[in-house]
Amino acid sequence: MCSVCGERVLSAYAETDPEGLRRCPVCRRIERPFERAVAYGSYEGGLRELIHLLKYNGVRPAAKVLGRMLAEALAALEPDFDHAMFERGMYDQQPILVVPVPLYQSKRRQREFNQAELIARAALKSYAAPEHLQLALDLLQRTRDTHSQIGLTSHQRRENLRGAFAVARAAEVTGRDVLLVDDVYTTGATATECARVLRRAGVRQVWVATVARTLKLASKYLDDEPVEGAEEGFKASEFQSVKVGT
Ligand SMILES: [Zn+2]
Repeated sequence: MCSVCGERVLSAYAETDPEGLRRCPVCRRIERPFERAVAYGSYEGGLRELIHLLKYNGVRPAAKVLGRMLAEALAALEPDFDHAMFERGMYDQQPILVVPVPLYQSKRRQREFNQAELIARAALKSYAAPEHLQLALDLLQRTRDTHSQIGLTSHQRRENLRGAFAVARAAEVTGRDVLLVDDVYTTGATATECARVLRRAGVRQVWVATVARTLKLASKYLDDEPVEGAEEGFKASEFQSVKVGT
């Protein structure tokens, strides 16, 4: 596993840096604006269904279960959190800001909720040390709709996301540490862009936690990585193929 993004790394490509961290080829090539990304499980089977229930069927109680899973995934970041607290020193023990990846206004209105926010809220309720974390809503805003990501290459997707997020109250985040929360980590393009914007606004460190992540090596999309927001696209194409078949 890559110690930065959590991607599975084939041992042939594994390289360990002087700090003893193993990095995947992508994380060796680009400097990620976040420290580490963790996830509870891979985006398939029951976990994928549960996320779909929440996002597309509006079954809100699913967020409770997903939040518990996220809280479990956060255990992997506890040494990092402790280290951050140690670095800050005893006179600056401000909690880590928990920032859900925002949806664009119209999408949020359409869905009536932001799944990342519901998951973050539920996770805080079951997290063992909630005093270390503080939910920060509307700090990060999506200023542009980006639902047209489907079919773009990862490079195009990065370009497409540029300028899609903004920090509303930069003074509140200066020098703070942030835990970015989302439902699924796909290519990391969204997390990377959010973290970049947060860091530029003065955030000290960013960690990323998602309930699920797509493992590229485990998926059949070796050359054609699944894209953020691709679910709608898949649903549409399934619907079309059903129509063709009948
Ligand atoms: Zn990596």
